[in-house]
Amino acid sequence: MQVSTIHSPQPTDIQGYIHSIETCGTVDGPGIRFVIFTAGCPLRCLYCSNPDCRYIENGKKVSVDTLIQEIQKYTSYMNASGGGVTVSGGEPLYQPHFVTEIFRRCKALGIHTALDTSGYCDLQVAKPVIEQADLVLLDIKSYDPNIYAKVTSVSLEPTLAIARYLNAIHKPTWIRFVLVPGLTDAPHNIEGLADFVATLKNVEKIEVLPFHKMGEYKWGQLGYEYQLKETQPPTAEQVQAAHAIFHSRGINVA
Ligand code: SF4
Repeated sequence: MQVSTIHSPQPTDIQGYIHSIETCGTVDGPGIRFVIFTAGCPLRCLYCSNPDCRYIENGKKVSVDTLIQEIQKYTSYMNASGGGVTVSGGEPLYQPHFVTEIFRRCKALGIHTALDTSGYCDLQVAKPVIEQADLVLLDIKSYDPNIYAKVTSVSLEPTLAIARYLNAIHKPTWIRFVLVPGLTDAPHNIEGLADFVATLKNVEKIEVLPFHKMGEYKWGQLGYEYQLKETQPPTAEQVQAAHAIFHSRGINVA
């Protein structure tokens, strides 16, 4: 599996492609965060809320210098809240040099950095980015490889390889899992994920994210077929049942 990059690294003024920014995000890492959503993603998650992030060429080209100038306007919010900068997507590891440089510049300014990734990336490509991240939010969208492939259209193994590496280097990590009734909620799937996560000593918590349809309208606008039309968000009981499986393995659940 090979993830392409947009260009070779340059010592200054590295540029990349972004979908959007959120200046005061509260759900992608601790505290108040400046969240950069990069453009381009090799996955095709059935529940994707940002299908307009698929293609890198549809993103807006921006330099790291420009982003850093913008980020610095919000440092007081970040500092007061224990927040920082999160790079999400799309898939940030699709543009490893760009994201590494954003993180490197942030860290030089004392700003906490978080990488929100599917982990679908060659480990050697991901390593320099991970090195600059204070926290990794790793989305494990399923533990059963067949369900994973059905959800994402790609294979699970690169994500597990990155999870094992994060554990090996003691990188603070949050695991994220989207609970989709009839798709990812099979007990063997959640139990498999719980057993796997229980082996990882670096994982601070797992976030069980209930499936929602807030991005459905975008699929229609883009002419893509939304296959989860009939799927409903999980009930509170279904979410609690998933929580209970993780709790039973001693995993902190949010
Ligand atoms: S990894 Fe994220 S951006 Fe990419 S398809 Fe899946 S949900 Fe969408």
